[in-house]
Amino acid sequence: MSQLKSQNNWIASKDAAEIGIVSVPIEGTKIKVRCAEAVAPLIAGFCKEFHELIEPIDEGQLDDWGWAFRNVRGSNDKLSNHSSGTAIDLNATKHPLGKVGTFPPEKVPMIRALAKKYGLRWGGDYKGRIDEMHFEIELGEAKVAALIGSLKLGDDNG
Ligand SMILES: [Zn+2]
Repeated sequence: MSQLKSQNNWIASKDAAEIGIVSVPIEGTKIKVRCAEAVAPLIAGFCKEFHELIEPIDEGQLDDWGWAFRNVRGSNDKLSNHSSGTAIDLNATKHPLGKVGTFPPEKVPMIRALAKKYGLRWGGDYKGRIDEMHFEIELGEAKVAALIGSLKLGDDNG
């Protein structure tokens, strides 16, 4: 059987254990996010800073999603990056798929800066359908490991 890959080229599976999905607590919140262990320090660090600097992620209903085995919404054959545990949706109810300008404009530069810092791409910068709740790892495994090292996010995460 050939390995399934999500759009960003990470290995995807409907079996969480097979691809090392972990449940990682987000510092400063009561939330845990499920994602691939290899990227967990980046996702956790990003979520922590997003919570502090952009908006709280633990208020209202639970609408923050990490790993989920599914296609890109509306696609029959393209696996979403959520399928590899390398993407996160934050405050999905406030930032629905396809809607533009759901964040205050003055926060957008900080959103981009945080995404870049943690090796993520923001769905608000998609060329096609905008997805402002969505952030996904855009680096490969080696660069992810190097970034975790340079950000000193090593041991105490996850
Ligand atoms: Zn998403």
